[in-house]
Amino acid sequence: MTPVTIFSGRKLALFGLGGSGVVTALSLKAGGAEVAAWDDNEASRQKAVAQGVGIADLGLADWSGFAALVLAPGVPLTHPAPHWTVEKAKAAGVAIIGDVELFFRERAKIAPSAPVICITGTNGKSTTTALIAHVLNAAGRDVQMGGNIGTAVLALEPPTANRVHVIECSSYQIDLAPSLNPTVGIQMNLTPDHLDRHGSLEHYAAIKERLVSAADIAVVGVDDEPSRQMALRRAAGGRPLVEISGEQPLDRGVFAEIVAHDGRSETRIVAAQGGERRVVASLAGIGSLRGSHNAQNAAAAFAACAALGLSDAEIAVGFRSYPGLAHRMEELGRIGRVVFINDSKATNADSTEKALTSFRDIFWILGGKAKEGGIGSLRRYFPNIAKAYLIGAASDLFAATFDDDGRVSYERSVTLDKAVADATRDALAKPGEGEIAVLLSPACASFDQFPNFEVRGDAFRKLVATLPGFVAFGGAKPPA
Ligand code: ADP
Repeated sequence: MTPVTIFSGRKLALFGLGGSGVVTALSLKAGGAEVAAWDDNEASRQKAVAQGVGIADLGLADWSGFAALVLAPGVPLTHPAPHWTVEKAKAAGVAIIGDVELFFRERAKIAPSAPVICITGTNGKSTTTALIAHVLNAAGRDVQMGGNIGTAVLALEPPTANRVHVIECSSYQIDLAPSLNPTVGIQMNLTPDHLDRHGSLEHYAAIKERLVSAADIAVVGVDDEPSRQMALRRAAGGRPLVEISGEQPLDRGVFAEIVAHDGRSETRIVAAQGGERRVVASLAGIGSLRGSHNAQNAAAAFAACAALGLSDAEIAVGFRSYPGLAHRMEELGRIGRVVFINDSKATNADSTEKALTSFRDIFWILGGKAKEGGIGSLRRYFPNIAKAYLIGAASDLFAATFDDDGRVSYERSVTLDKAVADATRDALAKPGEGEIAVLLSPACASFDQFPNFEVRGDAFRKLVATLPGFVAFGGAKPPA
C-alpha cells in the first residue's frame, strides 16, 4: 500500500466504497488523515467498516471542515448530473479529487522523479498496460501495475526513483486528477464511448487530452482523427511526442507494418526518425498479440519502454513471452491444428470484429444478450467463418442475419457446453492443414446465461480443458 501522507492531520470526505474507495480510505488513514467515508449502499458501508474505514453520513456532515472530497471514479462528476456529494463539495468550496490524484500528489512529495507510465484511450488500455508491465518486468525492472486494470493505485507499493508504476487510467480517473503528470502518458485511440458520462465527444476527448498534455513524454495513437488532433497540438507545443500507429507507416514515430513472405504474413514494429527506419520487433508467432489492434498496443508499449531506456532487444524479448490477458482473444490451448480462443470480453460487434480479422477458418461460438445493431456490421468478415454456433437469447436475431446473408452455415447450439462440443467436432473433422480456430467471441452481453463475461469465459476454459487431446498453453508462450 502507498500511505497518503499529504493530508496528515486533516479531515477528508470520501464517497464510494467499492474496492478502490476502501483502499483509498485506508491509505489516507495510514498516512494520518481523518476520513469521513460514505456510500449510498448499506452493504458497502458495512463491508468498509469491517475493514476499518470510518463511516459518517456525508448528507448530514459539516462540509466546511473538509480539505477535499475524494470521489470514486464510478460516481458522476458532471454527467448525466453531478452526484449530490459533488454539489455539496462545490457549495462549500471543497476540491474534488480521486485516488490517482492522491497518488500523484504523494509522489510529488516522496519521490518526484519516480517513473510513472499512464495509459488511456477508448480501447486497448488494459492490454497495453499489461504488456508494458510485462516487458519491464522481463527486463528486470521493479514494476507496479494498477489503476483501472484492477489493483487500486493506492494498493500498490509506494513510488521510488527505481520503481516504475504502470497505471491504466479511465477518463473518470483523469477527470479527478488535476495534478496528474506522468513520465510517459499514452493516449491509444478515441471513439464514441461512455458519452452518457461525458456529455459529448469533445468533452470526452478533452479529458483524455489532459493526460497527453501533462506527460513529460506523450505517446499518441494517430489512427483516429480526435487522437491525431491531440498529437498535432502536442507537436505544436514542441514537447516530446512519439506518434504511434497500428495501421499506417509514419515518418517519425513507431508503427506496425505487415510484410508477406513464403505465403505468410508477419507484423513488425518499426521505429522511424530523421528519415531512418529500423525494425525493432516482430510479432510473428506471438499468439497473444494477434491483429492490427494489438499491433497498435505493441507500438505503444514499445514507445513507452524505449522512453524508459529499454533496448530494442529487451522489448522484443518481452513481447515474445507476453501471456495475454484473460478473456481477450486469449489462447487457451489446442488439439492438433485447432486452437481454442476465449474472447468472452467481446460483448459487442466492434470487439468481436478484432477477433474475426485475426483468424481464418473460424468455428465461431456467439450469442447471449444482443446489443443494439446486432452483428450486421460484421458481414464483411463472414468469409472467415467456417461455421457458427448460436447460444443464448440472441440466437433468432443472429440466425436471421446469417439467413439473410446466405454465406454462413450455422447451428443452434443453445448452450455453451453444447456449442463447444459441436464446434470441436466440426473443427476436428475439417480436412486440410494450417491453423483453425474454435472461437468464443459472443458479440453479446452475457447476462442471459452468465452473471458476467468473466464467468462465461471461465466456463469456456473449463469446457475445453476436458476435451480429449486438449493441450493447454497455461499462460505460457504458445508455439510459433
Ligand atoms: P480496454 O482496457 O481499453 O477496455 P482491452 O485491452 O481490455 O481494452 O481490450 C478490450 C477489447 O478491445 C479487446 O478484446 C479488443 O477487441 C479491443 N481492443 C484492444 N486493443 C485495441 C486497440 N488498440 N484498438 C481497438 N480495439 C482494441
